Amino acid sequence: SSVFNLQDASKDQVQEFLNSFDTVLTDCDGVLWIDNNAIPGSAEAMNLFRKLGKKIFYVTNNSTKVRSDFAIKAQQLGFIASQEEILSTAYLVAHYLKGIGFTKKVYLIGSNGIGEELKAVGIRHYGIGPDPVKADFKSMQPSDLDPEVGAVVVGFDEHVSYPKFMKAASYLASEQVLFIGTNTDERFPKGGSIVVPGTGTLVRAVETCSERKALVVGKPHSYVMKYLESCGLNPARTLMIGDRCNTDIELGVRCGFQTLLVLSGVTSNKDLEKLRNEKLPPLPDVILSKLGDLLTLIDQH
Ligand code: PLP
Ligand code: CA
Repeated sequence: SSVFNLQDASKDQVQEFLNSFDTVLTDCDGVLWIDNNAIPGSAEAMNLFRKLGKKIFYVTNNSTKVRSDFAIKAQQLGFIASQEEILSTAYLVAHYLKGIGFTKKVYLIGSNGIGEELKAVGIRHYGIGPDPVKADFKSMQPSDLDPEVGAVVVGFDEHVSYPKFMKAASYLASEQVLFIGTNTDERFPKGGSIVVPGTGTLVRAVETCSERKALVVGKPHSYVMKYLESCGLNPARTLMIGDRCNTDIELGVRCGFQTLLVLSGVTSNKDLEKLRNEKLPPLPDVILSKLGDLLTLIDQH
């Protein structure tokens, strides 16, 4: 198979690899950290990229935080990061709506991360927290809907409920109402025997009951590329680093970036073998056990 393990690279090949990109887009959870724990060596590798003059963007599908909170988290875990380098789905939703001159209200199945990013660009929203009509959803009336709503946004929401789906679908019955989803991740990257449904579960539920398709801003959808085009991004000299094939690597392949898959997150060696054997796209150009191994490779030579 054509997937190359950087571990097998010669000194010249490692140098060639490092010289082959000027922009690094990195996934966060699974590449840089897992929950609140840094993955050993990732900060050093990212800081090396920075020292080499690479432009860096942190691209996360996590919609629960504002950019400044991601920057603080990154800094606390040893990364150099500024708010401007964070491309989170909550921010991208707000950026998209602002960009099209949206002035109506958003019905939000989501959390404060999206709420605060919308507020920062002057967009009104409602829906965060448990829905008040939860007890008796069948009594919902047209008067329970707000005629000022012009978009439904769906992100991660721990208070998701049947009345929320009813409201979302009722708003979306009007073709003028926009439908935006943050991301379509199937599951949270949690090990063990407990499966935690990801945001894709909620986006798909609203797609089903509204009989519409959401515009999704997160990986692998290329809104992020549209965003970066204004920053002068050159796809051929851009490296996308991720731990998931169907989000991170798929984004990279769609956009013509180089791709590096690390096995420190959701994709295991066994998963990768399966993908390789079945030749299932999207496959990465190169792999590493973890991002920090790059430093060992450089030091060894
Ligand atoms: N969405 C939520 C709500 C999360 O908590 C996470 C990871 O913790 C993700 C998505 C995936 O984030 P990333 O794209 O950085 O792997
Ligand atoms: Ca990830």
